[in-house]
Amino acid sequence: MDFVRETLLINGKRVETEKITQIYNPARLDQIVGEITMGSELHVNDAVEAASQAWQKWAEVPAHERAQYLQLTAEYIEKNCDELARLLVMEHGKVLQDAKVDLLSSANVLKYYATIVDELKDQVVENSQGKMILTRQPVGVVSVIVPWNYPIILAFLMLAPALLAGNSVVLKPSTYCPLTLTKILKEMSAILPDGVLNIVLGSGTTVGGAMVTHPKVRKVSFTGSTEVGRSILKGISDTVKNVSMELGGNDAAIILKDAVVNDQLINEFIKGVFTSSGQICYGIKRIYVHKDHYNHFVEQFTKAADNILVGFGLDPDITMGPINNKSQYETVKNLIEATKKSGANVKSVGRLADNVTLESGYFILPTIVTGVKHSDDIVQQEQFGPVIPIVPFDNEEEAIQMANDSEFGLGNSIWTSDVDRGFKLGRKLQSGSVFVNIHRIGASAANMPFGGFKQSGIGRGHGVEGLLENTELQAIINRTDM
Ligand code: NAD
Repeated sequence: MDFVRETLLINGKRVETEKITQIYNPARLDQIVGEITMGSELHVNDAVEAASQAWQKWAEVPAHERAQYLQLTAEYIEKNCDELARLLVMEHGKVLQDAKVDLLSSANVLKYYATIVDELKDQVVENSQGKMILTRQPVGVVSVIVPWNYPIILAFLMLAPALLAGNSVVLKPSTYCPLTLTKILKEMSAILPDGVLNIVLGSGTTVGGAMVTHPKVRKVSFTGSTEVGRSILKGISDTVKNVSMELGGNDAAIILKDAVVNDQLINEFIKGVFTSSGQICYGIKRIYVHKDHYNHFVEQFTKAADNILVGFGLDPDITMGPINNKSQYETVKNLIEATKKSGANVKSVGRLADNVTLESGYFILPTIVTGVKHSDDIVQQEQFGPVIPIVPFDNEEEAIQMANDSEFGLGNSIWTSDVDRGFKLGRKLQSGSVFVNIHRIGASAANMPFGGFKQSGIGRGHGVEGLLENTELQAIINRTDM
């Protein structure tokens, strides 16, 4: 694959800078995939200025025409999916199939939003008080800040509704995985009016920080860690901006006594835990199993995880890639070491492909932890890697209590042979999504509201809610009764 070079894009023009960051293949650390130019606070100022000049004209473009740009971008992604997916594997580490999921589900998000323009229509209320028209106005300039784990869909989940609602955008990809996303955004920007979509590559603190505090930015749409989310909340306070936050999670999967622990369930858990090496915001991060199933589940799950082949995601037999970056790799490694020291049973399974070694990439084998209590760090923290604690429980109330005993509340799942019971118990779980008998990437689709309770986020993305969060609701009132 050719070396890829991406730059900033401000007001429809490529912008070169002196500072360069190289992007390595996390499965082959001696291989440079490409490079990006790094922006500064001054570039953010230019981008916000361009966006600020552009948005009012963009807002006058009829909504169904704005939707066409989303549709065209979806078509570009679908048409070029194979080539884009290969680049995504090289810079991210995920396997080819998962890279295609990231891309094609992004196309679905764009197409979905293109179909719900009518949600932006005025509502007219006429009654004995007089007449009121409720309009959905754009917010103005929106900063979209993106993480590295599913960089394409997580960008479009915030970008598509922002543009559809008539806002202009300044977007920052993560420097850990910027190439594929920037390539797609450049294509999109080329068809949009200048200034409507601007890309500023750069560090979180410098570029991200300026995107948060700039007074002309009216909304910050952030997907990433709870820790950075907290600092962003401080950053927006001086200028009182709108905010949408999709933050960290520590999703529990609860296997009830009435669940059938068969191959199908085990297979679902393998996908829910190890897809993308566990680097999924709403991946299964702790498993609570009824004591009657515990030994059988651990045995079958361990056996199935042992079939995982770890290596370079473009090799066709590989089922799991490396961790995406050094910082996350060290976090997961340290957590595993600390768990070992605490006396838990920590078992590494699966195997490395013949052409890789543990040192040739950020590889961590699937790791299963038993002999732990709910209060242990490995259960309490968001590990964001291929290591999973499995904890037994005695009764349903205890399982619900443990699942809720967390500052996170993104997703949880209930596994039962009685779906109605799953729906009933779901209300007791404190999370934005509750899945019944499923819990893996794709379980929450573009039309399903998504977001976190507690410190997992603010607001709801996806669905109509995600669109309306990019608008200001305006009431135009003519009272005739007073
Ligand atoms: P991160 O918070 O480190 O970085 C996310 C983005 O914020 C990056 O672009 C980064 O450069 C930028 N950033 C860093 N510091 C900043 C600052 N001070 N001001 C502004 N921007 C700043 O997160 P990450 O490591 O990229 O992603 C992993 C985390 O994201 C996990 O906690 C995961 O659960 C969470 N996540 C949540 C969702 C969700 O939908 N809830 C989805 C994906 C990932």
